[in-house]
Amino acid sequence: MSLTITCPICGKRDGYEFRFGGEDKGPRPDEDGLTPQRWCEYVHLNECVAGVQKEWWVHKDGCGSWFTIHRDSVMNVEVATPEAHK
Ligand SMILES: [Zn+2]
Repeated sequence: MSLTITCPICGKRDGYEFRFGGEDKGPRPDEDGLTPQRWCEYVHLNECVAGVQKEWWVHKDGCGSWFTIHRDSVMNVEVATPEAHK
């Protein structure tokens, strides 16, 4: 079964309509005292969780909205209640 993703505007659609935008890393680091190394780590290093992680997606073949979902990276399925998968 292929991945389906729930767009907040359009509803549940085939995963081929979307483009992965990366892991949700939380807020940007504070600019005060920010070093090039810390910024590089924030931009380029990923946790690559084997399990449920929060991710950015864009509905590229639909409304164009950016949004986050929780996806189980092992089963490649959207998870509506991530707290139930721990
Ligand atoms: Zn949409």
